[in-house]
Amino acid sequence: MASEYHNPFGIAQAQFDLAAEKLNLDQNLRAVLRVPQRELSVNFPVKHDDGSIKVYSGYRVQHNITRGPAKGGIRYHPSVNLDEVRALAMWMTWKCALVNIPYGGAKGGVIVDPKLLSMTELERLTRRYAAEISVIVGPERDIPAPDVGTNAQVMSWFMDTISMHRGYTVPAIVTGKPIEVGGSLGRVDATGHGVSVITREAAKHIGLRLEQAKVVVQGFGNVGSISAAQIGEMGARIVGLSDVSGGYYNRRGLDVHAMLDYIKQSPTKTLEGYHQTGTERLTNSELLEIECDILVPAALENQITGLNAGRIRTKLLIEAANGPTTPEADALLYDRGVLVVPDILANAGGVTVSYFEWVQGLQEFFWSEEEITERLDRIMVRSFASVLEIALREKISMRLAAYLVAVKRVAEATTIRGIYP
Ligand code: NAD
Repeated sequence: MASEYHNPFGIAQAQFDLAAEKLNLDQNLRAVLRVPQRELSVNFPVKHDDGSIKVYSGYRVQHNITRGPAKGGIRYHPSVNLDEVRALAMWMTWKCALVNIPYGGAKGGVIVDPKLLSMTELERLTRRYAAEISVIVGPERDIPAPDVGTNAQVMSWFMDTISMHRGYTVPAIVTGKPIEVGGSLGRVDATGHGVSVITREAAKHIGLRLEQAKVVVQGFGNVGSISAAQIGEMGARIVGLSDVSGGYYNRRGLDVHAMLDYIKQSPTKTLEGYHQTGTERLTNSELLEIECDILVPAALENQITGLNAGRIRTKLLIEAANGPTTPEADALLYDRGVLVVPDILANAGGVTVSYFEWVQGLQEFFWSEEEITERLDRIMVRSFASVLEIALREKISMRLAAYLVAVKRVAEATTIRGIYP
């Protein structure tokens, strides 16, 4: 039992089961929704700069496409596996339904450490992976985006590869592209910005003043760094930060912008070697246990489990990462009165602006950054308020409340469409 609960797909299914039970969902519908609709596994060769050839494995999983095309990022990480991609795809289905954008859920991944590849190797790997999964993606079928280990440049190569195959440019095949090739203003910051809006709303709800709040952020990539910078700009003190190189703690507050500058010029693209007066080094697990008001995991799954949940000392847990908390930890934190804002709500800003990018690409008409931010903020604030209202009314966790909204929407769409044939 315990090991199944650390399998991300087992966790995703357990979270779904709780919601299905509470909704009293028809058993046949449960059977349909708790498994992915399509799974593609690919093994493909990539020529390295020294002439050697290595075979890589990757996946693209479409969990559900009932409410619209599948949507979800592509992860490049050594620990990618099919069950992780399945879980991430399922979480995308619920996330898109929760913020009510017309998408299903998907995810992709390649088992690779992108930091060990040269730029040319990374480009060849991306182009070949794009060609391999081209059979199931498309602007009206499945639209990838960046996730851990991928970025706007990777999306640009992906888009170019599909465009070369088709013989014309297909900007709406991916989101999170560079602005120069049809990306949306505000997309790079969107997930972290959404996290900061949710943090502000959650703090307001528990009566926590951000000017007096101590914040710890795990992960300093796209999501973690922008969340930390923006929550800091709202007045909070970022006392702890970490990345793959470990944790950094300063009770007077870390200089997030100096850390961002440091990482940009670092040959390893990590915080390794960063110094600031009064800053202590910690392990990533010690970092999570720092006493703080707001804890923001923004790295990978399974960071807060039954083993360390009892030692987490925060008032608010804002899940910027996907799947950072196991169900066992969820229950312990709920009993201890920690307000957990679930991933499918907290980090939904990314897919929301991805949706804006896709819409702009399809209509070839682009919005201003103010329009993007204003629409994004409205969706995040509204989604937070509706989930909180259900959580308070039903006396349940915000995760279960969010799942009730999302699963109900997908279940209703499935019922209305009917079972083919
Ligand atoms: P990223 O690759 O930009 O950054 C990942 C960060 O995590 C890096 O700082 C890395 O050093 C750190 N990290 C890796 N292993 C770690 C470990 N064991 N302990 C601590 N830190 C570690 O990825 P990202 O896009 O920022 O994604 C982070 C999380 O947010 C993921 O769960 C992802 O699925 C989720 N997410 C991302 C987006 C998006 O728009 N990029 C949207 C929604 C959710």
